[in-house]
This record gives sequence, C-alpha cells and structure tokens, in this order.
Amino acid sequence: VTGISDLRSVFAGKLLTDPADTAPFLTDWRGLWTGRARAVVQPDSTADVAAAVRWCAERRVPIVPQGGNTGMSGGATPDGSGDAIVLSLARLNRVRGIDTVNDSIIVEAGCILQAVQDAADRADRYFPLSLAAEGSCTIGGNLACNAGGTGVLRYGVARDLCLGLEIVTADGEIWDGLRGLRKDNSGYDLRNLFIGSEGTLGIITAAVLKLHPRPLARATAFVALQSPASALELLGLVRRRHQSALSAFELLSETCLSLVVEHQPGARRPLGSSAPWYVLIEFSGSSDEESLRADLEAVLMAGLDTGIVLDAAIAESLSQAAAFWTIREGISEAQGAIGKTIKHDIAVPISAIGRFLDQADAAVARRWPGARHVTFGHVGDGNLHYNFSPVPGQDGAAFMAMQDDLNALIHDIVVAHGGTISAEHGLGVLRRDEAARLKSPVELRLQHKIKHALDPLGILNPGKLIAVAQRSATEGAS
Ligand SMILES: Cc1cc2nc3c(=O)[nH]c(=O)nc-3n(C[C@H](O)[C@H](O)[C@H](O)COP(=O)(O)OP(=O)(O)OC[C@H]3O[C@@H](n4cnc5c(N)ncnc54)[C@H](O)[C@@H]3O)c2cc1C
Repeated sequence: VTGISDLRSVFAGKLLTDPADTAPFLTDWRGLWTGRARAVVQPDSTADVAAAVRWCAERRVPIVPQGGNTGMSGGATPDGSGDAIVLSLARLNRVRGIDTVNDSIIVEAGCILQAVQDAADRADRYFPLSLAAEGSCTIGGNLACNAGGTGVLRYGVARDLCLGLEIVTADGEIWDGLRGLRKDNSGYDLRNLFIGSEGTLGIITAAVLKLHPRPLARATAFVALQSPASALELLGLVRRRHQSALSAFELLSETCLSLVVEHQPGARRPLGSSAPWYVLIEFSGSSDEESLRADLEAVLMAGLDTGIVLDAAIAESLSQAAAFWTIREGISEAQGAIGKTIKHDIAVPISAIGRFLDQADAAVARRWPGARHVTFGHVGDGNLHYNFSPVPGQDGAAFMAMQDDLNALIHDIVVAHGGTISAEHGLGVLRRDEAARLKSPVELRLQHKIKHALDPLGILNPGKLIAVAQRSATEGAS
C-alpha cells in the first residue's frame, strides 16, 4: 500500500496529510515518543470510523487510535515506520442522551472528560471520573486506559463507571453494546475486554456511563504527617469513623509540595510549617457542609491527639479547597518543569504500602545515594507515583542512564509485594516489555490469544500493550 488517496472516497471525515497539521498527533505530550504516519484520519461518525477501519483492514494498514493524546505510556503515538494511520476520535464528540431515571449518559468517544462532567452537572447529576488532564483527555481514552484519578476511592476506576460500549471491530464492523444495564450475565463480558485494552482490540466510538447524585457539600483538609505509615494509620481511622463520607485521600511528599510552590504561579503552602509528608483529604456527600466539616475536624483532632497528625488545615472556602487541589494536581507539571522524569505508576495492596516504600527507598539509596524522589499518589487506592527527578545540577543524560536498572529494581519489589507495574496509565510501549518480563507465561498466553481472536491481522495499535513478536510466536503455537 502506498497512498491514502482512495481513503478519501470511502470516508467523509477530515483527512490530514500536511506535516504541519499532522505534527501534533505524532508526538506525545511529554515529547518522549515521536512517530510518523501516512495520515491523521478524523471521522465524526461511527459509520465513518468503520469505513476507515475497513479500508485499513483490506490493506493491512496499522491503526493507532488517539483521543486527547494525554496518555503517559506512548500508546497513542505511531511508530517510526510511517505505515500507520492515526485515527483521531476528537471530532466524534456528541452527547447522545441522558437518562436521569436510569442515571446514565451516552457519549461519543471523543467527548472531553470535562464536557461529560459538565453535561452531567447540567442534568443535576455527577460524573465522578476526575484527573488533572480532564480538560483535554477524552472519554474514549479514559476507557481505553481504564483511567483512575482522584475519585476512585469512592466511585471506582473508569471501568466501574461504564455500563456499555459501542465498538468498531478490527474488521470494521460496528458492535452496538450501548446497554444501560446494571446487571447483564448474558455471556462473556465483551465490554470489560475492550476497557483497558489501549486500542489493541477495537475502537471505542461511544459509551454509556453511570451517573451519581451530585454531592451537596464538601469538606477538604490538607494534613501534615511524619511518614506514609502515619498516612495509612490516618486512613484507617477515617475509614472506621466516616467511610461513607470519604471521597479522596491523596498522599504527597514535601518535595512535591515545594516543587509545585516553586513552579506553579499562585500556588501557596497550605500550612505554616513544613513536614516530610502530607495528605489531602476530601469528605463529600448529601449532608450539610457544617456537619461534614465537623466530622472531618473531629477525626483530625483524634489524629492530633494520638500523634498521627502533625498539623492540619481545613479549607474555609471553595477557593481554598480548590487551592489545595491545585497543589495535588500540579505535581506532574511541576515535576516536568525541572527536567526529565522517571515515573512509576505502581500499586500494591494498601497494607503493603509501608513495606514497599521502606524496601524500595532503601534499595534506591544503596544503589543511587541522594536520588531525588518525587513520590505522590492515590494512597487510598494503594496506587503510588513513585517518581524521580534529576538532583539539582545533574546532567539529564546521566540521570536517564539509570532508568532501566531503576525500573527493574522498583518493579521487582512491586511484584514481590503482590503489586502491579501499571495501576492506571496502561502499558503502551513504556511498560510493555516489563509486563512481559513479570507476568506468568499462562497470563501472557491468554492475553495473546485474546488479541489474536479479536484482531487476527494485528492492525490495531500494533506493538502497544503486547509485543508484536510475541503475538506471532503465539500464533505459531496455536
Ligand atoms: C497532568 C496529567 C495528569 C494525569 N493524571 C492521571 C490520573 O490521575 N489518572 C490516570 O489514570 N491518568 C492520568 N493521566 C493520564 C491520561 O490523562 C489518561 O490516561 C487519559 O485517560 C488518556 O486519555 P486520552 O483521551 O488523552 O487518551 P490518549 O492519550 O489519546 O490515548 C491513550 C490510549 O488509549 C487509546 N485510545 C484513545 N482513544 C481510544 C478510543 N476511542 N478507542 C480505542 N482506543 C483509544 C490510545 O491508542 C492509547 O493507547 C494524566 C495525564 C496528565 C497529562
């Protein structure tokens, strides 16, 4: 196959081929991966997505689906061959309907997450998926990566918020699985196969999402602590007393706070003093704001009395609460502002977080004394972003030279604690080979068989999530 000119005749959407137009789609937001593509295809209907996929299937042209291009693992960037097309879902962005009795909304894959939140809000409902990229990531990308974010503690991950999907299959058929059902045991759960498959099994074109009652009140606190162990003790205390009010419990280190204060205009320290660690706690619900605040205050007082809590501030206003959240959500960007980053999106059982951190910190200190940790995360979900930045003055290349050894060291410790090396960012190309190293042969074989069954030509996002070579080996064996 050479040109893409005949695609124009079967497909009504936009087709970008000018390098100036295609460039933004060929590099990820962090600038870690840059590829090439024959074209960027921008359909604005499911039928058009199907037509483009059929065209690709007939010619064995690889397809790289892309939403908001905010992913962390290189999954939405084509490789360097120039063989693929990038299938951008950004123009497929209508809200198809809201059912306030069923508490569900049907949206197309290219809807920006914030637009879905806003549409729910206009219907006096709440769509709780929330992450710092919500102004640019799409619901299709969220589901393809099974995104997490800050609302998981109460509402679950993207998978838990999805009732049904519309999919364009690898051969260009449309599967209408837009069922708004809470219960459906009528066979294999196809929806759950596509969620988290990072564009390797099918193209998500629309989804039915669960809506929740809008919280009427919130109370937010910024709390200083001595250690992650104190954070876990506090989490236990909060859960025992106010499990139903708890909607976020986010951990960050002093390094994270100082980075944000230094690099984010307007960001201020929420507390007069500094401490090694902090948590941001949010209570929300249908009770009135005063009683939520009183509950939060009481539990923090209990923490102060027992010495778990060093200091705490409860937001006095919505803008102060927003300022606390700005700190938490500004960490990724602030870390980017000081140079290259090495990121780990790991999860272990909550009970193992303390042991994981003790062991990983000690192992890193032995091998790279003085390494600059930038650790934060959704500690209530057992998910840490166990990240690193260069120490001041360290050369970027010298810093990145430790990446492979550092990854292997951390990931081995994660697995030893029963954890995962990708809690919410997906494998993409970043973690594909590490996952293959760490998963059991049985699990890998099952994954390759699923891939082969749903995408026998291997045209959907090849090389992402699982290696192409391994797929061929499985094909040979089957
Ligand atoms: C500042 C910042 C903070 C972040 N915080 C979080 C966080 O807290 N939690 C979290 O989980 N993530 C977080 N992310 C990562 C990212 O925003 C999410 O992974 C998001 O879900 C990706 O959505 P997207 O539309 O940008 O997808 P893209 O980056 O465009 O694509 C991601 C993957 O999904 C595939 N894909 C995209 N759309 C479709 C589709 N319609 N059908 C099939 N496959 C598709 C792509 O091929 C790729 O493999 C953060 C990112 C940034 C920049």
